[in-house]
Parts: sequence; structure tokens; C-alpha cells
Amino acid sequence: FSHVTVLGVPFINTTQKAFLTAIESRITARHNTFIVTANPEIVMYAREHPDYQNILAGADYITPDGIGILKGAAIIGTPMSERITGYDTMLSLLSWGNRNDKSVYLVGAKPDVISDVARVVATQYPHLKVVGTHDGYFQDFNPIAADIEVQQPDMVFLAVGFPKQEQLIAQYRHQNDGLWMGVGGSFDVLSG
Ligand code: UDP
Repeated sequence: FSHVTVLGVPFINTTQKAFLTAIESRITARHNTFIVTANPEIVMYAREHPDYQNILAGADYITPDGIGILKGAAIIGTPMSERITGYDTMLSLLSWGNRNDKSVYLVGAKPDVISDVARVVATQYPHLKVVGTHDGYFQDFNPIAADIEVQQPDMVFLAVGFPKQEQLIAQYRHQNDGLWMGVGGSFDVLSG
């Protein structure tokens, strides 16, 4: 994909459809993939936190999540084709995973929310294998990462908010050659 850099962050400039096609083939090939869906808040935070900027530099794809990114890109004369949000990307991948018998590991949100999410996913995506779930209020991610390493899910969605979700993904992604994506408050939305 081509890129558009907004305040130092290189965003991919493509359509949701082309992006999903690329991600789906990477997942199928068990290609280790880290997606960051970045809004203006993340861009501003990265400017002030070099460690987080480094984490973004290590991501495979940074997508424009938030209309403010598209507006900013247009203002600097490099318009982008489309907004690509974490929530929409997650829903599309759950649906694709359901059609293709893929597996998913879900971590994040409050205990009652993640159990609702597990129920919603099992109902709406019956062929998708949910190989693990955990709430987002753990003290230590190591045991969860160890379970992810055992389960080897095709996709890991981490909904603990930024910057923590990206920090954890950067640290633990080598334990599973699948897709890793931080999805912020998406589980709260999905739980209904
Ligand atoms: N969260 C979590 N563990 C924490 C802090 C937050 O699981 O230690 C969850 C919280 O319950 C919510 C999500 O992370 O579901 C954060 O959503 P928010 O919309 O604040 O994140 P953003 O989209 O801004 O990254």
C-alpha cells in the first residue's frame, strides 16, 4: 500500500476492501501481523512518547481510524481514500473467520463484558473457533500470552485501550504467528 504521513505517523492509504483482502491472505499464510488503528489521540500521544512512536514504527499497518486523520491528510494536500476503523475491521474479520473456520482469541474489557462478547461471537459466528477469552483487568499478561502460544489462534483481538494494547502486542506478538490488533473499546460496543 502507499502511505500518507500525518504528524510523523505513516498511514496506509487504501480501501477497507483492499486492506481486508491483504490481511486475510496474511492470516491464512500464518504471517505475523500487527495492525494499529490510529485516531488523532494516538497520533498526538506518539509525538510526546518516543517509546510509543517506536512501537508504531514496528507495526505492519497503521490505518486511519477517525475522521480527524482524513481531514488532516486532506489539509496537508495528501488526501486518503477511506477511513479504516478497528471496530469495522474486527467485525469483517470475525465474519471472514466464520466463513473460513478460523480461530480467535479475545482479551479485554470488564469480566461481564467479555463474557457477553464470547456469547455474542458464538451466536453470530458459529463456525469461528473462540480458543480463549480473558478480561482486560489482569495483573500479568504472561500467563495469557503462554495460553495464546499454546492455542496459536489465527487472530488475537486485544481490547484494553491504547497505549497498553499496542505495548503488549509489541512485546508478545512473537509468541503467535497470527494477526494481532488492538481494538480499544470495541468489546463494549459488541457486547450490546
Ligand atoms: N480496559 C481494559 N483493561 C484496562 C483498561 C481498560 O480491559 O486496564 C478496557 C475497558 O474496559 C474498555 C477498553 O479497554 O473496554 C478501553 O476503551 P477506550 O474506548 O477507553 O479505549 P480507546 O478506544 O480510547 O483505546
